[in-house]
Parts: sequence; structure tokens; C-alpha cells
Amino acid sequence: MGRGKITMEATFESNGFKVHIITEGLKERENALIYQAAQLMANVIGDPAFKVFCENYKYEITKTSGIWPYRKKWKETIRGFWHNQNKSGLEIHNHLMTGAEKLNGEIDNEADINLRIDRSFGRRCIGYTYKNSIWQYLCQWVFSSYGPENIASNLAHEWCHKMGYSHEYKKTSRRKYSVPYAVGDYVEYICKKNNFKKKVIMGLMLSKLED
Ligand SMILES: [Zn+2]
Repeated sequence: MGRGKITMEATFESNGFKVHIITEGLKERENALIYQAAQLMANVIGDPAFKVFCENYKYEITKTSGIWPYRKKWKETIRGFWHNQNKSGLEIHNHLMTGAEKLNGEIDNEADINLRIDRSFGRRCIGYTYKNSIWQYLCQWVFSSYGPENIASNLAHEWCHKMGYSHEYKKTSRRKYSVPYAVGDYVEYICKKNNFKKKVIMGLMLSKLED
């Protein structure tokens, strides 16, 4: 008898925003970590602070003109995300909240994540996805090196691709301002910040107990 790959399904919710996650072929401890990450992603994306983040998103670029020695350099602030499909930050937020992924255009107000593990060797990548597939992939090594906040960041990054947002394949100065990178980095930043606060509070509690 052939052993089929186990499919698991779960939904995590925060402030009315859901992360609905289907995993295929994951081990129990891998699923447990993914579920923690999915809950973190729901917490961050569903929080009203995420709307404020998108609405006010801006970045700075350095421009130059002229030739040496008359070369001029100045900074310019650009409002909104890079590769924004002519949408404002707020429009991108509202679109993300619909949860209408490109391949199943249904407005269900939830992030639908279909996840498989890439078990090939090496650390070539963290995760990836293909335009014409509902599946997004996480590389196996991530499970032994990453915490749930890093995984939450990658789930959010790949999900932004599923929502139709892209970035340059090669690293450029603006790539980090694209929707997948900006949102993924934001998720990680907020998770770590909250975690840091928790650790500080725990530290205070422990030192109080020692008094
Ligand atoms: Zn990407």
C-alpha cells in the first residue's frame, strides 16, 4: 500500500482577518511551527496598525544628474510601494484584506495558503512559489534554523505573490520596497518587537521573583 502525503488544514483569525492554511506532506512538528507562524501572520496583518503602515508607506531614493565634477546628488521620497500596480498604499491594504488570490479570485477576507516543503538539499532559498500554482514552498532547512516569526514573514511574502504582487528577481536598491518584501519584513519586525517586549517583561518578572 502506498503512503499518501498527509494533508492538514487549519484557520487562524485575528481582528476578522483569517489565515487559512493547507499543508501537504509536513511532519507533525513542522505543522506545529507553521501553525504558530500562521497565527502570528494573522495577528500582524489583521491588526489596525498594518493599515496605518500600508497607508503611510514611503521610501527614499537617491537621484543623481550631471557629470563629474558637476555631479548633483539628492534624495527623493516616494509615497507608496514599489511595483504597486498604480495603487496607493491604502488601496493595496484594502486589496490584501479581500484575500482574493489571483488563482481563486474569490473575496473571502482570508489569506489562503497552500504549503509544501522543498526537501532537496542546500540552502538555496527560504521559500518560493510559481505564478501558475496555488502552492507555495518552504525549504526544509528553515525548520531547524528559523523561529515562527521568520516563517510568518516568509508565509506573508509568498502570499503577497499569490495576491499578484511581484519584485525583481535580482537584488536591487528598490526591491525591498516591493509589496512582498515590505509586508514580509514588517511581519517579522512586529513579531520580533512584540517578542522582545515579552522577553523584557518576563525578565522583569523573574528579577522581581528573585528579590
Ligand atoms: Zn518573492
